Amino acid sequence: MSIESQANPYIFDLVRYLPGKPIEETAREIGMLPQDIVKMASNENPLGPSPKAVEAMTKCLLTSHIYPDGEAFKLCSAIGDKLDISWSQVVVGNGSSEVIELLCHSFLNPQVEMIVSQYSFSMYKVMATLFGAIYTEVPAKNYGHDLRAMLAAINDKTRLVFITNPNNPTGTALSAQEIEHFMANVPDHVVVVFDEAYVEFLESKNQVDTLRYVREERNVCVLRTFSKIQGLAGLRIGYGVTTPVLADLLHKSRAPFNANAVAQAGALAAISDDEHIANSQRINRQGLVFFEKELAHRGLEYIPSNGNFILIKVGNAQNVFDAMLQQGVIIRAMASSGLPEWIRITVGHPQQNERCLEALDKALSSLS
Ligand SMILES: *Cc1c(COP(=O)(O)O)cnc(C)c1O
Repeated sequence: MSIESQANPYIFDLVRYLPGKPIEETAREIGMLPQDIVKMASNENPLGPSPKAVEAMTKCLLTSHIYPDGEAFKLCSAIGDKLDISWSQVVVGNGSSEVIELLCHSFLNPQVEMIVSQYSFSMYKVMATLFGAIYTEVPAKNYGHDLRAMLAAINDKTRLVFITNPNNPTGTALSAQEIEHFMANVPDHVVVVFDEAYVEFLESKNQVDTLRYVREERNVCVLRTFSKIQGLAGLRIGYGVTTPVLADLLHKSRAPFNANAVAQAGALAAISDDEHIANSQRINRQGLVFFEKELAHRGLEYIPSNGNFILIKVGNAQNVFDAMLQQGVIIRAMASSGLPEWIRITVGHPQQNERCLEALDKALSSLS
């Protein structure tokens, strides 16, 4: 008897998550120095972490023999103050990915369903599969969420619906009216999860106040992360903002010290570093304008982005990925998201953007 035959059957449907290719590994493979490699693959912040966060974390290292605050009181209070919500309605996780997992722990099993949009964050499927749950992808509309179709897909078995705004990997954003219509009609046996990992990159006129639904005690969880605008992806820290009832369920589902002390200290310092946030927004806007202008100039199709990345149609994306990799530029080919003709480039700082575009030009001309 093999031990595999004793494992949960739905585990076999999983493929291991494929992260953006690491710099060190690429450097070894193509014989370049790590410092000459440019990685624009995982939506990381090209400015790095907030200097204030680095200072706070350095200090925190001296007390790393002490367990972290399991309730993350200081961090939750700072988030609560910023968002005008009680600290007790904030649940932090080892990345917001962990908060997604906590929602699944609380609600999913093989009899019930998660609904997501086509072309969205790959982690949702991984999580639904881990819990053996029914997983439904609703066809996208113009590469974004079709909220009316997602509403129509909801049935008695539905427990979690994920709305990713702005969406990864397509960069699309939803309007307040679309979200309002959805919320006016969603049945109350469903938890609506607004995944807002990129919300700080949205122009303020396009931001939708989803926290309002939390304040109204609708069954809603708003997910945010320190991985993107704050540049703390390596620390693994994110959070959900939700109702007292749902917060209690999520707390019961989590491990005691799920967010580590260094991450909590870094996040606490980063949240009030307005200068770093503003600089990150500025460099991202500049980069998006650069890419959109240059791509349009070349007649390449792209999707106007509300995030810190851009999705570009290039033909055989895997070949373009390989050809760019040989030049020391790591981007992402999106076949695993059902987009085999598209690459996703994370916006970098200006020199990185230029080097990336040069590599793309060379790749496309060598392949044509
Ligand atoms: C990056 C990302 C997250 C957050 O990831 P963590 O690093 O786990 O906080 C969540 N949702 C989407 C859509 C993302 O792209």
